[in-house]
Amino acid sequence: MTGTPRTALTIAGSDSGGGAGIQADLRTFFACGVHGLVAVTAVTVQNSLGVQGFTEIPADVVTAQIKAVAGDMGVDAAKTGMLATAEIIDAVAKTLDEVHIGRSGETPFVVDPVAASMHGDALLREEALEAIRTQLFPRATLVTPNLDEVRLLTGVEVTDRDSQRRAADALLALGPQYVLVKGGHLYDDPDCVDLLSDGFQYIELRGPRYETKNTHGGGDTLASAITASLAQDLGVPDAVAEGKRFIERSVADAYELGAGVGPVSPFW
Ligand code: PLP
Repeated sequence: MTGTPRTALTIAGSDSGGGAGIQADLRTFFACGVHGLVAVTAVTVQNSLGVQGFTEIPADVVTAQIKAVAGDMGVDAAKTGMLATAEIIDAVAKTLDEVHIGRSGETPFVVDPVAASMHGDALLREEALEAIRTQLFPRATLVTPNLDEVRLLTGVEVTDRDSQRRAADALLALGPQYVLVKGGHLYDDPDCVDLLSDGFQYIELRGPRYETKNTHGGGDTLASAITASLAQDLGVPDAVAEGKRFIERSVADAYELGAGVGPVSPFW
């Protein structure tokens, strides 16, 4: 390429298995043509069978990473993944204001409210959910919860299109500009229908459901692909549509690796 690419920052945890977390974010940014910047929040010990544990990075080291890259290289869009603790979330929220990322500034900010792995292993200390609600949601351009995260954050159990809409409203009441309620875990539905809303418009994004058990890193990959499009000046509805196309292809090409759940594919 010629010239300087746009930049996208991920504030997230490391996955030793290379399928999710910052590893998924960075390869998605690369595939989408933006330069990836990283603030590591936690180091997980995991493989295809699950998360064996994690150690969080001190909050001041997380915020120093954000300031270092924002001040020198500039951030065109940012996202959060695994944030681990309320202390990290509080510190990240303050720092984002300082560097004008999120609704207080003009830089788009995507919050993927990661709470647990698909195996049910915790990736967030329990008391940190409230910090996600109060510190991150009001600053977010877009939040991208799956149905487990919707239940944890709002108490709404999504079982059909009506409850998906109610969940969107409950999440919007917490302050983000847009919410994407991902319907991939509605396994009775033959399609994967995600609902995007800003409280005025309700847009259903319908895509095929691929029969694969290998979906590790899917949520991170979708949120990163959307963030990459926002970094390249797409509006939220267009960025989400691009992200959906990206994740569909990544899931369609997901592969076996290890004895458990393999990763969605970065090879295309
Ligand atoms: N590990 C890390 C560091 C993550 O950020 C995530 C999800 O965001 C996971 C594991 C879990 O990924 P999955 O639910 O796709 O297994």
